[in-house]
Amino acid sequence: MERVGIVGAGTMGRGIAYVALTHGAQVILYDVAPGALESAGAQIETWLQEAAAKGKLAEAEAQRARERLFLSASLAELADADVIIEAVHEDLALKQDLFRQLDAICHPGAILASNTSSLSITALGAVTRRPERVAGMHFFNPAPVMRLVEVVRGLATSEETVRALVDLARRWGKTPVVVKDTPGFIVNRVARPFYLEALRLVGEGVADPPTVDRLVRALGFRMGPFELMDLIGLDVNLAVSESVYRAFFEEPRFRPHPLQRQMVQAGRLGRKSGKGWYDYEGQ
Ligand code: NAD
Repeated sequence: MERVGIVGAGTMGRGIAYVALTHGAQVILYDVAPGALESAGAQIETWLQEAAAKGKLAEAEAQRARERLFLSASLAELADADVIIEAVHEDLALKQDLFRQLDAICHPGAILASNTSSLSITALGAVTRRPERVAGMHFFNPAPVMRLVEVVRGLATSEETVRALVDLARRWGKTPVVVKDTPGFIVNRVARPFYLEALRLVGEGVADPPTVDRLVRALGFRMGPFELMDLIGLDVNLAVSESVYRAFFEEPRFRPHPLQRQMVQAGRLGRKSGKGWYDYEGQ
């Protein structure tokens, strides 16, 4: 049985934990915030119950998945994991600090993967003594539903590591695509102008968010840019925008929009805070 350690029990960490648990892995889910662990445990339980009620998962399987989940407030408990997937805030210094600690704690054969949306995998690998075993494993939101996984090859990532993560993603029912280590990889690079032009339209008073979303959906997109920002989290989206902008040496076409920061300053983070571009209170 695979032993998977997940660092960060927020939106993505809990979703990835659910995917791993329902595909036979043992999961140790770690977070510094005890509240995050508690709410992740409750969310995973709700997903398991819903899947069992809909007949997507046999009750016995749901029970086995439950028994394979360990919530932990101690990083040291990840020592036996074969694969670590890190999903903390989009902050290079924070992630590098964790990779340094994980490198010291985990057994030498363990793969250290990051779910980063945009940061350099090469820079994460460089702070460890095993850069060949460091890679990106970028899931999309919501992780239990979205099939795409970008497997990111850093400058020093070995072929063996890439292959192991591609195989793991397939075993978990996902569609892995191997991408190079470039800011935002492929999806978040393409997504930058998608959000930015929408923000500019609203900033210039040309259209309001529901109008932009309605038109974009009419083109066949599942969600408009503002609905998607609310789902992702406006804080997460701002962090990714800033990281891509910085990584391209402040190239003007990637400059984030002031409205993004203002929304974060107001605490309007989207669905998770009850309010973003739209109102979710009472939902
Ligand atoms: P989030 O804010 O929901 O969760 C982050 C979690 O990390 C929190 O629970 C926080 O307590 C925890 N954390 C912070 N510092 C920690 C530490 N030192 N040790 C352990 N836990 C710590 O964020 P998220 O939306 O889950 O995003 C996490 C990562 O996934 C980011 O790198 C983000 O760019 C990426 N990502 C996000 C999305 C999305 O749509 N939200 C999609 C794909 C990838």
